[in-house]
Formats: sequence, structure tokens, C-alpha cells
Amino acid sequence: MMTSKDLLRFLRQAKEARRKALQRWNRQVVNGYRISCRPGCDWCCYQIVAAGLWEGALLANYLIQTKQNKLLEAVMRQGEEQAELYTELSHTEAADVWFVKQEPCAFLQDHRCAVYALRPTACAAHCVVSPAADCAPPTGKMVAGLDSEEPTVTSLLIDADLLRLMFGEDQAVAQPQPLGRVVALGAQLLLKGPGAIASFEVAHP
Ligand code: SF4
Ligand code: SF4
Repeated sequence: MMTSKDLLRFLRQAKEARRKALQRWNRQVVNGYRISCRPGCDWCCYQIVAAGLWEGALLANYLIQTKQNKLLEAVMRQGEEQAELYTELSHTEAADVWFVKQEPCAFLQDHRCAVYALRPTACAAHCVVSPAADCAPPTGKMVAGLDSEEPTVTSLLIDADLLRLMFGEDQAVAQPQPLGRVVALGAQLLLKGPGAIASFEVAHP
């Protein structure tokens, strides 16, 4: 049975494994391109971000430790709104509906990510080579991004490991869910112990 201490140790190791995967990816893939992404450029932060349970727990731990309760609540509220969309729509439809709303990610503050160092892999590995203006709605233009297989797979494997440790083999293939939702689940795990959630709903995107 996983304890809270085990979970925190797991998250520290996971963060390091993801850091190394991003570092390799930057060296092997990103460095060869002229990247359009710049600090303060934030149209991509108006999309639904999908993340794994480990990423939600990592962020929840940071918000709890730094006593950012209001931000934690705002992120969880946004996650519930997004999860609601997924109950009625496909991933693509939900993503379109959310983007049209033009509601920024709850972590976006003054055009910067408030959790930049801990941001989900989907954000950290979102690297665009088409003009930045094409990311803005409603251009309808295709946005060209770089292949992000290495960090994405690393993150999925970390999540599978966590779910296996918590629930056993049959839960080990859960898929990413809206960021706020996994932050809420992560907060439950940290505040009430890993036994707080009996299973991980695979209600995805
Ligand atoms: S993905 Fe697009 S909007 Fe986001 S930082 Fe890169 S260029 Fe800017
Ligand atoms: S977590 Fe940060 S980088 Fe990702 S969408 Fe939210 S504000 Fe943007």
C-alpha cells in the first residue's frame, strides 16, 4: 500500500525523469529549429490542457506547500467545467468549444505561466515553428509543432507506474484528463492519503 511519503518520493523521481526527457528532446529535436514560442506569447494557454495524475499531484503539492489556496480552487473549478464538456462531447469538439470561449488557463498570470517549472508535459513539449500569430483564434490556420514523442511517452509511462502502484495492473492505462481535474485528484491524494481515491476514472478526452 502506497503511503503519502511514498507518493512524494515518487513525484520527486518523476519530476527528475521528465526533466531529463525534456532535456534530451531539446537537444535532439528542438535545437535544430527556429522556434516561434517566446515568453509572454500565450494563445496556446487558452486551450484545454490534458495532463496525467502524476502531473496533477505535482502541481497540487506545490500549491498546497506554497499555500496558494485560491489558485488551487480556481484551477480545480476550471477542471470541473472542462470535465463536464467531455461528458457530452468528443475531445475535438470539447477543445473547440473551450478555445472559442477564450478563457485562459487558471495558471496564466500577466501572460506568464505561474507554474512554469512544473507545467504539464503537454505545455512544456508544445513547440511551434509556424508564425506565432497563427496560434491565435480565429485564424483557422494550421499550426506546425515539433514531434514531442519522447517527453510525452515519458510522462505517460510515469503515470502508468503511479497508477500501477496505487491500483494494480488493470488501472495502469489511464489517459490524461483536463489539468484542473487531475490537480483536484492530486490534492485529494496529498491531503487525505493515496487511499483517498479508490480508482482512477478513465474518462478521457
Ligand atoms: S505555441 Fe503558439 S501561442 Fe504558444 S508560445 Fe508558441 S507560438 Fe506562442
Ligand atoms: S499550465 Fe502554464 S503553460 Fe500550460 S496552459 Fe496553463 S498557463 Fe499555459
